[in-house]
Amino acid sequence: MATVTTQIMLDEQVQSFLRTSRKMLISGRWLDAVSGKTFPTYNPATGDMLVQVAEGDHADVNQAVAAARKAFENGPWRKLTASERGRLIWKLADLIESHAEEFAQLESLDNGKPVGVARAADVPLAIDLFRYMAGWATKIEGNTIPISVPYTPGAQYLAYTLREPVGVVAQIIPWNFPLLMAAWKLGPALAAGCTVVLKPAEQTPLSALRLGELICEAGFPDGVVNIVPGFGETAGAALAAHPDVDKVAFTGSTEVGKLILGAATGNLKKVSLELGGKSPNIVCKDADIEASIPGVSSAIFFNHGQCCCAGSRLFIEKGIFDQVVEGVAADAKKIKVGPGMDPTTQMGPLVSDEQQRRVLSYLESGYSQGAKAVVGGRKLGDKGYFVEPTVLVDTTNDMKVMQEEIFGPVVCAMPFTDIEDVLPAANNSIYGLAAAVWTRDIGKAHRIARELRAGTVWINCYNILDAALPFGGYKQSGWGREMGHDALELYTEVKAVTVRL
Ligand code: NAP
Ligand code: MG
Repeated sequence: MATVTTQIMLDEQVQSFLRTSRKMLISGRWLDAVSGKTFPTYNPATGDMLVQVAEGDHADVNQAVAAARKAFENGPWRKLTASERGRLIWKLADLIESHAEEFAQLESLDNGKPVGVARAADVPLAIDLFRYMAGWATKIEGNTIPISVPYTPGAQYLAYTLREPVGVVAQIIPWNFPLLMAAWKLGPALAAGCTVVLKPAEQTPLSALRLGELICEAGFPDGVVNIVPGFGETAGAALAAHPDVDKVAFTGSTEVGKLILGAATGNLKKVSLELGGKSPNIVCKDADIEASIPGVSSAIFFNHGQCCCAGSRLFIEKGIFDQVVEGVAADAKKIKVGPGMDPTTQMGPLVSDEQQRRVLSYLESGYSQGAKAVVGGRKLGDKGYFVEPTVLVDTTNDMKVMQEEIFGPVVCAMPFTDIEDVLPAANNSIYGLAAAVWTRDIGKAHRIARELRAGTVWINCYNILDAALPFGGYKQSGWGREMGHDALELYTEVKAVTVRL
């Protein structure tokens, strides 16, 4: 890690945003917490505080849910045409675009990711998602359905379905892609006509709060989007359990996903969950090895491995094992790790000291069970939460590092003999979020894609995500699909209407 770094100049609007403590957005107004409490958010590259943020809890959640309910039932939002809703969402995308640099910097400061990555990925993907969902607002349609009704002979009916907004939605998001996760959640909910209470992660509340300002500027009616920063155990839990919330959408750990589900049973609110992963990445002997090595490296090292779909279990066919491991290890060595605000940085710190400790404890557990690091394997520096990009070998399926989500820049490599041997191993996980295969054999590629129990399969690529493609998990990786038109199902109810003619 470079000790002397050139940091980019802080955008003036970012400086002013960080100058005063940040409040929460309820019914179009920026408020302190009812308790008056605040919590600090930190720069993970230094451990220094960035700014204080209002700490919402049960009382604030109650106000936010009441505001969302009022906006859903009585406000102008309900009366807007689909086209007007779409135009508001599009306008929000334009506003984010005109503040793109500000968002990239806020994301880098709060989360730790390189500002260049935020500029190239997080911010444009969020803009694109809003534009994609803006288009859906006018295309949420029901069907006309011919019905026979044998017990009313001779009668004629017209039957059709309406797709209506599910109502007041609670959205709880994680810290790995703070702005983008807000977009994934808000885009389809707003296109469908829902109203929202959003809780960003305590580690990274800033970009969502800045987004809230733009939501007001775009002209969304008061109460349509409410943003309550705070802790999961208080604000998050209050939202998940709230009797007047119709649906909760959550992204985060499988462990907390189960808590959300439990809390939702009180009023049987709808639940969608986008949870953890331990995604297999399979490299066959007949792959284009030169292309697959950088693909495999970025599958795990992108966003410091803090991706729910990270390619963290690397299966390599015997015969090319050493070559691929050496290639990935060489890539890992070349990665420039440093503060996200240094424009030459390729990998920043992990998001928090807690995540750093967590990842290091997984490494210790791997070593104690017989795994070896061929590159990396330790923390970096004594300031900030850096961990070296790491490749583990001598890993076996029963190890904790192979079964549990590490959520850091750590890949476990294992050799395999043939497809019959690798498919059960690849599917041997409680998770099923993503998977990939690298091969030039087109038939084999599609066969493997069919056999893998995962919501996303990549062939000869990795981490290719698009607003138009559904994303979500099999098994304990979640319920439902975000993005694509599938996302609208999460935010709509179907009503069957029957008319006797
Ligand atoms: P987490 O606890 O699952 O956090 C995700 C979100 O849920 C945050 O907004 C969090 O608030 C909130 N939350 C926490 N406890 C809650 C509760 N009881 N009721 C309602 N909401 C609650 O994730 P984490 O602790 O930040 O990270 C732990 C591990 O989760 C990571 O190491 C990784 O394995 C996994 N993870 C997965 C994803 C993903 O995209 N699938 C994303 C992040 C983390 P607070 O921020 O205040 O805790
Ligand atoms: Mg947490």
